[in-house]
Amino acid sequence: ALHLSKIGNKMTNKVGVRAIMHDIQEVLNSNLNQYVNLSAGNPAILPQVYEMWEEALKDIVNDKQLKNLISQYGSSYGTHELIDCIREYFFTNYRIKLDREQVLITSGSQNLFFLALNSFCGTSKEGRVKKALIPMLPDYAGYSGVALEEGVIEGIPPILSKLDHHTFRYEFNKQAFKDKIAQDPDVGAVVLSRPNNPSGNILSEESVQLISQVCKDYHIPLLIDSAYAPPFPAINFIEMDPIIHDNIIHCMSLSKVGLPGERIGIAIGKSDFIKVMEAFQSNILIHSSRLGQRMVVSTLKSGQLAGISANHIRTHYKQKHDYLKNLLTIRMPDDIPWYLHKAEGSLFGWLWLEGLPFSDTDLYNKLKAENLIVVPGGSFFHGSQSSSHNRECIRISLTAADEELKKGIDILSSVVKEIYSSN
Ligand code: PLP
Repeated sequence: ALHLSKIGNKMTNKVGVRAIMHDIQEVLNSNLNQYVNLSAGNPAILPQVYEMWEEALKDIVNDKQLKNLISQYGSSYGTHELIDCIREYFFTNYRIKLDREQVLITSGSQNLFFLALNSFCGTSKEGRVKKALIPMLPDYAGYSGVALEEGVIEGIPPILSKLDHHTFRYEFNKQAFKDKIAQDPDVGAVVLSRPNNPSGNILSEESVQLISQVCKDYHIPLLIDSAYAPPFPAINFIEMDPIIHDNIIHCMSLSKVGLPGERIGIAIGKSDFIKVMEAFQSNILIHSSRLGQRMVVSTLKSGQLAGISANHIRTHYKQKHDYLKNLLTIRMPDDIPWYLHKAEGSLFGWLWLEGLPFSDTDLYNKLKAENLIVVPGGSFFHGSQSSSHNRECIRISLTAADEELKKGIDILSSVVKEIYSSN
């Protein structure tokens, strides 16, 4: 048998969506055409988006820049030109002044969270396990995966608010958050995605300001995962702006704007925080792709990155969500207590089946048997057993073609009908 370290064991043990991804991949590989796949987190690559990246790459080759980019190491902070570009962007658009030392280019944002959560959380010098706290569950399952130690991620249950017959929204439980921070001395960082994966919720500016103020009072860094936020990919259907304060680490990603393969993430924050993450990055991977970084520079400078995000990507997913809602309204039995989370952003539909007579993973398996793949919602609750709600949700990806979505919702509604009528 292999003798693995604690970390080796922790990392081998796939958690959250990664655990199910293995199963999904196996299923999809076994027969490609049989399944309707509504599990993907990979963004749809729209023609305008692809053209933008193709043009950026062509320019690099035509300008004879490729050799220099791919054949040389660079700074672990990232290239000066991309960092300066980001600084200029934030100053021009948000009047936020950043020093070079306040920006770090990482190898994708997953890696950014790895660097941050393992620097600020885990066993401290005093031997206490510092935790990463999610202010409102559910949230991105990948946070549990990046922690090198067990039991680092904790979250606060949301308040459920039914908005109409078939729509609900999560509300932030302010008091529970304040109490938790006041009573637990072992919170090393607070992390949240905005817009939220999986639910599509966008925490209000007021809520984020409150979270930020509490974090500031207790000297806790607050990581705001902006993988779906404006200025790119701008998959927000209600107004929102980046919020930058002294104790906030603003985390961005190029993945949902069509570049997941190049692995580019951006952290913006106080230089003390950034310095720690830069040192860590330097040790484990030296730096992100320089070719990818250059591609971002040209699309950011030309205004295309933000323009295509706001005009094409956002519109695309808004239409998809409307289409999904419409399908559910038409196809699902009306007397079943199903609720779709209000569409505020991200590229997912989040469906709550109230009173589901068995767990989300049982539902996943039943749907799989009928050739539909979705993501069971349980892992987005990071081990919290606070209520049955945690086992009553599924995530439906909006990246599939309309035809596929339609097929998928047909399967879902017939399975759901069967379940509720026989129980
Ligand atoms: N954060 C959220 C909320 C995500 O949904 C994802 C990817 O799906 C990531 C982070 C990681 O993305 P990447 O490492 O490609 O930037």
